[in-house]
Amino acid sequence: MKKIGVLTSGGDAPGMNAAIRAVVRKSIYHGIEIYGIKNGFQGLIDGYIEKMNTGSVGDIIQRGGTILHSARSEEFKYDEGQQKGIEQMKKHGIEGLIVIGGDGSFRGAQKLTEKGYPCIGIPGTIDNDIAGTDFTIGFDTALNTVIEAIDKIRDTASSHERTFIIEVMGRDAGDLALWAGLADGAESILIPEKKDEFEEVIDRLKRGQERGKKHSIIILAEGVGDAFDYADKIKEKADLETRVTVLGHIQRGGSPSAADRVLASRLGAQAVELLLSDEAGKMAGIQNNKLVRHNIADVLEEKHTIDFNMYQLSKELSI
Ligand code: ATP
Repeated sequence: MKKIGVLTSGGDAPGMNAAIRAVVRKSIYHGIEIYGIKNGFQGLIDGYIEKMNTGSVGDIIQRGGTILHSARSEEFKYDEGQQKGIEQMKKHGIEGLIVIGGDGSFRGAQKLTEKGYPCIGIPGTIDNDIAGTDFTIGFDTALNTVIEAIDKIRDTASSHERTFIIEVMGRDAGDLALWAGLADGAESILIPEKKDEFEEVIDRLKRGQERGKKHSIIILAEGVGDAFDYADKIKEKADLETRVTVLGHIQRGGSPSAADRVLASRLGAQAVELLLSDEAGKMAGIQNNKLVRHNIADVLEEKHTIDFNMYQLSKELSI
């Protein structure tokens, strides 16, 4: 393989730039020409392709977002769009592609691989919702952003003796809420994987009120439902007024944490190695701090799960 491409797709995540940098520099290290495809799969269809060099990725390791930009492409979900993408790669002589993104992006990568066009996936999403890897690029930074915000809310919660519901991102995964809750000593954590525990949360709030507890923090993963609806439910069931804060897109931005930069550098370099070793259709991941590879097809099949021991611990520590 002499020429390869790289793109970022789906939601942007801090650390994607560090991953692009690693892919570019590792390719050049191996004497491979590397092309950046802008705007994800849509840019691939549109031929938005540029050759990259060591300088193209200078001074980006510390920057959030993605210099290659990201986009969602409806057209690429269909055969015709994928064929257009393949034509563009053929035109540029690009023989393999590295896709940095979430599960949707991996579906696109898998389709190309099945059509004979080798792709490697790098998990990049703040949601940490990909099977076969302990962490995705962006999760640690988002977690730190959430914690910083909760610390601030905690100051006002204790000063005004209020209970806050803080809604965090994560799509259908509760990782961000769970880790943030444990890191911030939240009184209650509501995650999609344990939706049935709402009654227990109500009981805990009631017990807290009886003990004279004046303020508490409830972290709600977006996959559970709307924070304002939960505020109404809590009012109804526990006769407790709550304040709602939806953290929103602030969680996707910012300079990547050290952990995300290191993870992105390791996974970026490994993705190039996998592509050069003809390991088409693989995802570069990390498990128990060791680099691993899994078939993207298996990763998409398997459901990501949270660490239920951590969830249990969060309850034991918040009594
Ligand atoms: P995040 O988890 O951060 O949202 P994601 O990669 O899951 O990231 P999606 O919007 O689901 O984000 O997918 C990104 C892009 O991948 C889509 O816009 C589309 O171009 C492509 N894609 C998604 N699903 C498929 C599919 N089934 N076949 C081909 N391409 C797909």
